Amino acid sequence: MTGGVIVTGGGSGIGAAVCRQLAAQGVAVGVLDRNASAAAQIAEEVGGVALSANVANSEALAAELERGAEQLHGLVGLVNNAGIGNLKGFESYTDAEIDLIFAVNFSGTYSAMRTAAPLMRASGGGSIVNVASVSGVRPTRGEAPYSAAKAAVIALSQAAALELAPQIRVNSVSPGFIRTPLNEVLAGDEQLRSQIEAGTPLGRLGRADEVSELIVFLLSDRSAYLTGQNLVLDGGSLLNSAQMDPVLETMLDRYS
Ligand code: NAP
Repeated sequence: MTGGVIVTGGGSGIGAAVCRQLAAQGVAVGVLDRNASAAAQIAEEVGGVALSANVANSEALAAELERGAEQLHGLVGLVNNAGIGNLKGFESYTDAEIDLIFAVNFSGTYSAMRTAAPLMRASGGGSIVNVASVSGVRPTRGEAPYSAAKAAVIALSQAAALELAPQIRVNSVSPGFIRTPLNEVLAGDEQLRSQIEAGTPLGRLGRADEVSELIVFLLSDRSAYLTGQNLVLDGGSLLNSAQMDPVLETMLDRYS
């Protein structure tokens, strides 16, 4: 098997951590982001290939994935990590906001897998990891479209695992509260952060490099018999989710 791994949303947060860990293990990496300069910066840091597309644009995404696979001399891994969310009350979401959240989180993941599957088969097979969320397992107050889109990503990953086997494995990862640029405004609020930490059995927020450890494991042959699973990495917060309701109310009041 020859080839590299492409990471969408690789220019920041969890995606950038995946690119760094893969490169440290000698894997060739394609860093894809809608933010071309962020992709170029991480690609330069890890000695990878910079790719730029909006994952909601399936034609542009397919062209960049194909270009990436060519430059990496094949494709053996794909991480669908690009994602966006929003925080507001159920009745405040507009059609355009709902469509955008689904277009990026769900349709972007679907179309990337559809393009990647034949490229992976041509490379001898591979592994796909889709980044979902604990919100896709237990909906989060104020994040109705995001929670629904991430639940759809989990179901889609399982459907793909069935249909793309045995050459391609597909799993999803559902992080809890991970401190990244995506949620810095929430994590940077000291009172809110300590409420979140108090509601998390392991007592702290997660780090991007802890999520990337799991993703890199799922990409590797060390997980060769693992497919169709959704792995939650959240410091135990889902177990405690009822106690988190007051925190979610605070988040919604303060930031929506
Ligand atoms: P992040 O730091 O914002 O990184 C996401 C990257 O994806 C950014 O560079 C972003 O570019 C890019 N991106 C966004 N929309 C895109 C699009 N349409 N096409 C191409 N690239 C796009 O976020 P993160 O926290 O690492 O999140 C990564 C994934 O983990 C997301 O799917 C998120 O839903 C999921 N997740 C995160 C957490 C958490 O607590 N952080 C928890 C559960 C799940 P811009 O900077 O231009 O937006």
